[in-house]
Amino acid sequence: MALKLIVTGGAGYVGSVCTAKLLKAGHEVVVVDDLSTGHADAVPEGARFVEGDAADATASLLAEGFDGVLHFAAKSLVGESMSDPGKYWRGNVFTAIRLLDAMREHGTARLVFSSTAATYGEPEVSPIPETAPTQPTNTYGASKLAIDHAITSYARAHGLAAVSLRYFNVAGAYGRYGERHTTETHLIPLVLQVATGDRDQIQIFGEDYPTSDGTAVRDYIHVADLADAHLLAVQHATAGEHRIYNLGNGTGFSVRQVIETCRDVTGHEIPAVAAPRRAGDPAVLVAASDRAREELGWKPEHADLHDIVSDAWHFTEKRRRA
Ligand code: UDP
Repeated sequence: MALKLIVTGGAGYVGSVCTAKLLKAGHEVVVVDDLSTGHADAVPEGARFVEGDAADATASLLAEGFDGVLHFAAKSLVGESMSDPGKYWRGNVFTAIRLLDAMREHGTARLVFSSTAATYGEPEVSPIPETAPTQPTNTYGASKLAIDHAITSYARAHGLAAVSLRYFNVAGAYGRYGERHTTETHLIPLVLQVATGDRDQIQIFGEDYPTSDGTAVRDYIHVADLADAHLLAVQHATAGEHRIYNLGNGTGFSVRQVIETCRDVTGHEIPAVAAPRRAGDPAVLVAASDRAREELGWKPEHADLHDIVSDAWHFTEKRRRA
């Protein structure tokens, strides 16, 4: 069934890939983005683009009648969330509540929300199921968890059909849509910057973790697979329910393994140096995604780390040549 949807943050990394896939599947999409971190030229062709605040601009649009909202727009820098928490409580939580109120006012039925593995904090079990305790270690994770709680109560009280997707480490690219953060903190794009010569070396944050090679382990998921889960989520959302799904491949790779894969893909030496641990970084974050597979019928198609890094590298090289 073709749906009429608003995508907040559709000029950003995950939002633009998801918009491209929604359009390809025949849905009608309006992108709302304030371009604070997104790029106007990343909004996929075929989507209507409204520049504005994720709550205010969306509220004005909702009066036109929409089937649902996919809410990606958010502040997402862990370090900044600790030094400037107000930006996260206002920018993430307050914006989301205003969006929920606008959706209620206009009777908008469906919501898909970008949540995060950071809601779990330092895990007690691995891989992490959705039933694991949520004890975020940073304000970014706390702000996303607060929104998840708000969505649960709005769904129960007002009949909203809601799904939160908790992303593990998103990477890779989809066609001309990929990671273009002005402030880049993520491992794979930073390592690829060493390969392109934009950075001299990569720092390994911590070599004394209780893991096989002492470096931190993460579950990398291809952005195209992540987007597919959103398409399934918007279709499966059920009135009065808030469902939560972890999205990852269920396999962990260490920082050293990621760097080695990047060397293999790029053919560059990529010098790496040891650096202290980054505050708030758990040793291992791996997803149990059985619930998404069973209930949404989600099946990741690009689980291989080599494929994920290759797609990120092709995107990086193409942009450099453009
Ligand atoms: N990391 C690193 N060097 C960097 C950037 C990241 O060693 O320059 C590590 C980081 O400490 C973490 C892993 O790479 O263990 C993934 O970090 P990223 O920021 O990509 O994602 P996160 O897991 O924090 O969401």
